[in-house]
Amino acid sequence: MSEHRREKMLVEAIQNGTVIDHIPAGKGLTILGRLQLRNAEVRLTVGLNLPSHGGGMKDLIKIDDWRFTEQDAAELALFAPKATVNIIEEYRVVRKFPIGLPETFIGVFVCPNANCITHVEPVESRFSVIQEATLQLRCHYCERAFADTLFTENKS
Ligand SMILES: [Zn+2]
Repeated sequence: MSEHRREKMLVEAIQNGTVIDHIPAGKGLTILGRLQLRNAEVRLTVGLNLPSHGGGMKDLIKIDDWRFTEQDAAELALFAPKATVNIIEEYRVVRKFPIGLPETFIGVFVCPNANCITHVEPVESRFSVIQEATLQLRCHYCERAFADTLFTENKS
């Protein structure tokens, strides 16, 4: 069986739902944690350290009966901006889109600054993406910038 064919089968093995492919190896569990926060009952299949046809390794997550929207994908963009989302219907990929990194995250992350006004006012959190040497998010309200790793923890 060709490498390409084998990859295709990995992606298509669920009936309906979403497959997130090309997650950087090591980020799969972070993404898994975030998906479980969103929906504790969701049925997930995870592949870690799978061979990637571009060389190297990747993680892959299959999500049964949950078809991702762009908004669902945006929440994961910080952890896997280069991953691909495959929407599956009846075992076939009906839609495919890259996650990509948005310019802003609205209502997705909680501000790591405990003194930030977003913790007391009923406003949606809002972060601008700053890409310099490393990726950072700047809070629109307290104007502090935080390393992306500070956002891998729980939302609540
Ligand atoms: Zn803030």
